[in-house]
Amino acid sequence: RREGGSRRLRQFRQRMLSEAQGRVQLISELHRGIEKGELQLFAQPIVNRERRVIGEEGLIRWFSSVLGTVAPDDFIPLAEQTGVIVEIGDWVLEEACRTLSAWSLDPARADLTFSVNLSERQLRVDGFGERVREIIARHGVRPDRLTVELTESVLHSDLDRTVGVLGMLRTEGVQSSLDDFGTGYSSLSYLQHLPVQQLKIDRSFVSSVVEDPHAAAIAQTIVWLGRNFHLQVVAEGVETEDQFSKLREIGVDAFQGYLFGKPRPVAERLLSA
Ligand code: C2E
Ligand code: CA
Ligand code: CA
Ligand code: CA
Repeated sequence: RREGGSRRLRQFRQRMLSEAQGRVQLISELHRGIEKGELQLFAQPIVNRERRVIGEEGLIRWFSSVLGTVAPDDFIPLAEQTGVIVEIGDWVLEEACRTLSAWSLDPARADLTFSVNLSERQLRVDGFGERVREIIARHGVRPDRLTVELTESVLHSDLDRTVGVLGMLRTEGVQSSLDDFGTGYSSLSYLQHLPVQQLKIDRSFVSSVVEDPHAAAIAQTIVWLGRNFHLQVVAEGVETEDQFSKLREIGVDAFQGYLFGKPRPVAERLLSA
């Protein structure tokens, strides 16, 4: 796998990310990269309170032959602005369902769920729900094995539309999750209307949950909210045993983070037992 590369390459990369002209270059690099198959879907395990793997979250990686490894936070926002995220998102859904289909043949994995991150932009595409249904059907996977993760940013645009799409996915059996929960600025009242089944406590609270009583109080509040709304609560970014036991004590249902496994190529997961 490509690392940061030479200093010249790093400087080139820096320029690409910071300057307007560089961004145009980055976009055309991204288009080229997509065509050359430089995007790869990695996945990170999600475990239950007994540390047993119950699912995985798909996380995209871009190994550019020109730029080296580009982090999602450096190219997803740009892909969202230009709209190419719609194409990328379709590919991620395909990969997710391909993976679920392979798992379904393996008794040890048949019950695992696969979560994909959705951008707000994807929800705004006409017929998005039908598209998801078609991909699921074509791969012959159980819809309730697929989870879509959304951030609160989807609530700032067209709430009716979001509720409509999530409602349709719900009818199909697809689960929805609110990612980075607690970091947005939305009012909590939307929880009444939004058909979601899972809340993910943001890593910023998890990383300080042991030392900071305020972070622990926020995690506790999210767990209470989850209980009242019958939502599964997942903690992301769990890195230490102390964080794990504190979050278990608080009542969190599921956990994700380097403590249990880093994101790895999906293909590797399919092969290793
Ligand atoms: P996210 O959905 O909040 O994903 C969690 C991020 O935390 C991932 O970063 C993951 O690698 C990282 N992480 C997991 N466990 C730990 C831990 O224990 N410690 C630390 N320090 N980090 C941990 P990553 O892979 O760089 O992804 C960043 C963001 O890019 C994601 O945040 C998500 O918003 C976006 N993204 C990734 N893949 C996709 C995709 O397929 N589609 C869309 N629309 N967005 C994606
Ligand atoms: Ca996520
Ligand atoms: Ca998150
Ligand atoms: Ca995030």
